[in-house]
Amino acid sequence: MPTRDYENKRDFSRTPEPKGRKSKHSSDRPIFVIQEHDASTRHWDFRLEVDGELKSWAVPKGPSTDPREKRLAVPTEDHPLDYADFEGVIPEGEYGGGSVIVWDTGPYDNITEKDNGLKPMAKAIDDGHVLMRLHGQKLQGGFALQRTGKGDKARWLLIKMRDDDADARRNPTSTEPESVLSGRTVEQVAREEGEAEE
Ligand code: MN
Repeated sequence: MPTRDYENKRDFSRTPEPKGRKSKHSSDRPIFVIQEHDASTRHWDFRLEVDGELKSWAVPKGPSTDPREKRLAVPTEDHPLDYADFEGVIPEGEYGGGSVIVWDTGPYDNITEKDNGLKPMAKAIDDGHVLMRLHGQKLQGGFALQRTGKGDKARWLLIKMRDDDADARRNPTSTEPESVLSGRTVEQVAREEGEAEE
């Protein structure tokens, strides 16, 4: 049960979130997904498909396309692959209560190198240094996830790499707030699904 932490934190009779079932994605290429989550504090959950589950970080300020903006990324529990297309409202009082949209998603390439080739993603994450190329609808090109510090002081940062897709003038978390799956904002999801429950 690779995602037991995920299951233990949730009451599936109360939350519409998926119970982890799928262990393989339909495509050969691994995917990333970024879910905007309007919980007690709004954040963007950055998830990477690695070995049949979604490795996850919560990014309080969301991703930036400006390489000078290092965005704090707090590791969270592995999520099941089924979570990658989850949008909806997690009830207040439940773990992560608030509305969720798929803010961006697409395939990614691992570009983390070792001496003679590519380092496997799981090893790159263990080592605290991950380079990837995203092929999303909003985010493209190289991004780094970098762990700094040790032990209790360890922190992860999500940083845009300097390449043709870097753009200090874009601010997609505020100018492109709609879901890439449904076109809805988190506020619209909260309104629509909140009404449906009453
Ligand atoms: Mn979250």
